[in-house]
Amino acid sequence: MSDKHSNISIFVPHIGCPNKCSFCNQRYITGTCKAPNADDVEKAVITAVKSKKYNAQNTEIAFFGGSFTAINRTYMLSLLEAASSFVKIGLVNGIRISTRPDAIDDEILMLLKEYNVTAIELGAQSFNNYVLKMNNRGHNARDIENAAMLIRKHGFELGLQIMTGLYCDDNESLERTAKKIIEIKPDTVRIYPTIVLKDTDLAALYLDGKYSPQTLGDAVKICTKLYMMLSKEGINVIRLGLHSIEEGAYLAGPWHPAFSELCQSQIMLTKVLTRLFDKGEYIIFVGKSDVSKMTGQKKSNLKYLKSRGFDCKVKVDESLSDLNFRIERKVL
Ligand code: SF4
Repeated sequence: MSDKHSNISIFVPHIGCPNKCSFCNQRYITGTCKAPNADDVEKAVITAVKSKKYNAQNTEIAFFGGSFTAINRTYMLSLLEAASSFVKIGLVNGIRISTRPDAIDDEILMLLKEYNVTAIELGAQSFNNYVLKMNNRGHNARDIENAAMLIRKHGFELGLQIMTGLYCDDNESLERTAKKIIEIKPDTVRIYPTIVLKDTDLAALYLDGKYSPQTLGDAVKICTKLYMMLSKEGINVIRLGLHSIEEGAYLAGPWHPAFSELCQSQIMLTKVLTRLFDKGEYIIFVGKSDVSKMTGQKKSNLKYLKSRGFDCKVKVDESLSDLNFRIERKVL
C-alpha cells in the first residue's frame, strides 16, 4: 500500500442521501453529526499547512462521507468554492470526493471539473447485483460501470471502494467483484470489512440471528487475498479497513484499530511462503517500517514459518520499503 498522498479529510454527513443501505448508520443521514461549512474547510487547511509534514505537492482536500454529489447542491457548491480557492493559490494539489455511483452524470462531472476536483471515489461495495439489492444500495453493478466510465471520460482519477462480509455475500462473489475491478482498472481501491453499527438494518438482522459478521481472521484472510489479486494487476490498494468508527456505534464485526497492519503482515507471510522451498535457516530483509509486519503480532509469522521448517530472522535493509523483501539463506 503506497499512498504517498496526504489528505485533509473533511467528513460530510450524508444529508440528502436517498438511500438507507443496510450497514449505514442513519444518524449521519439525519444530521445528528455536525455538517462542516466553508469556514471549517478553511480551518482544516490552515491546520494542515502549519503541520510539519505538510507538502503542497501531495496534499489534497478530501470530502469523505459517501454521497457528496447527492447532497444539497447549494451546500455542495459552498464547500467546493472554499476548497477550490486553496487549489487556485497552490496550497493544495487537488480535491477528492467520494460518492454513490448513481449520483454521477455528465452535468455533475463538468461542475466538479470547474471546481478543481481531481479524484472521485465511488462507493461500489460489490459488483454482485443480488448483494447490492439485499443491502439496499439502490443501484446495480451496471450503474457502477457507467459511473466509472464517465469519470474516466472526464479525466478524473478513479477510485473504487468495496466491502467484504456484506449481508448475503461470500468469498467467491468477492473474488468475482475483484475480477470486475481488474477489468475496470481504477487508479485506487479501498477495501473495508463490514462492521455492524448500532441503529442500522444490519444490526437488526444481526440481532435476529439472520446475519453473521466475518470473524477478524476471516476478514484479514479475504482482504489479503483481494489485495494480492488487485496489486498483482498493478492496481493501487490504498486502504484496508476503516480508520475509525464513531464512538459507541460498534455492535459487532471484525473491527481492529490496526486492521491494515494485520493484513499487511498476512500479505508478507503469504509472499514469503511462495519463495521458500527448502527447510532451513533464512534471513528476511525488509524496510524499516515493515519489520513488525514481517514478524507478525507476537511473532506469529515467524512462529508459523518455523512450524513449516523455515527458521527465519528479520533484518532491516534501508533500500527496501512498501512490503518488499529479500531473502538470504543463512550459511552455516
Ligand atoms: S449511499 Fe452512502 S450515505 Fe447513503 S445510505 Fe448508503 S452508505 Fe449511507
